[in-house]
Amino acid sequence: MKEEWSQFGFHDITCEVPADWDLTHIEGMYEKGYVRLDDARSPRLEIRWERPFRRVSLSRTIDKHIKLVTKEARRARHELRVQRDLRLTASSFEECESFSYKNHVEAAGLATRCGVCRRVVIVRVFAGEGGQTLRQTAARIFQSLRDHSKEGRSRWSLYGFRFDVPEDFRLVSSDLKTGRLLFDFAHKGAQLTVCRAGLAGVVLKDRTLSQWLEQALPKFFRSFVVEKRSEEFRSHSSLVFTGRYKLRLRLARLMIRPWFLHCRVWHCERSDKICVFRVIGRQKDKNALEKCVDLVYCH
Ligand SMILES: [Zn+2]
Ligand SMILES: [Zn+2]
Repeated sequence: MKEEWSQFGFHDITCEVPADWDLTHIEGMYEKGYVRLDDARSPRLEIRWERPFRRVSLSRTIDKHIKLVTKEARRARHELRVQRDLRLTASSFEECESFSYKNHVEAAGLATRCGVCRRVVIVRVFAGEGGQTLRQTAARIFQSLRDHSKEGRSRWSLYGFRFDVPEDFRLVSSDLKTGRLLFDFAHKGAQLTVCRAGLAGVVLKDRTLSQWLEQALPKFFRSFVVEKRSEEFRSHSSLVFTGRYKLRLRLARLMIRPWFLHCRVWHCERSDKICVFRVIGRQKDKNALEKCVDLVYCH
């Protein structure tokens, strides 16, 4: 059977992964973080990244890592066999080094350092049952690994939700629930929010899109006076909200007038999802920021 692959992306760390591996652990930010993906039985992929203050040697990073694994193996009374330099590479990195080890589980690893974003990434792929061999799977993941944005865009792809944001925007908070994913980004005072909710067909049975938004994101338009209109978007029914700051004082209004709010909510029947895109920014960036909605992929 041909294995299906999909894309994973978080804080500009992107790679291809088998489609049936699910994200089970996620923590950290751009400077330092960790994610783990499991198949139905066991952990299959771990990615750790860090932007060290000082330049570190990749060999020494792997030494440290192997030391930790050795300690764990000794504690569990497992024999550990380590191999350095597997000759697996990641083509987008000038500096990378591979390794493998085998105790009760077999793992292939890769450490990379990037001269552009100055991050050190350690990827470990664990053997599973059946399917492709560990080496083949690891080779594809390593080859597809990237750790910084391309063409001015950061790619985000998790839980089957894919979108891009301008590369200057950094994630400031996220709320990842089973039925709803919400990401908040910020750059120089501008805010960009992307949200996706599931089971749209059921949710919208007894309420309109507008009512759903009010219930799901009650403070979404706080401090703004908004106007609403219906509009078709990619052949989906959608609502557009445009807003300006709610201020009584004339002086404050004059000062804050350059800020705008733009929000689009749409129902994608094909993927059974509701997608939300909202941006608050300066008037002069309005056109460019509003266009970012095109970078949210619903189906
Ligand atoms: Zn990089
Ligand atoms: Zn769609």
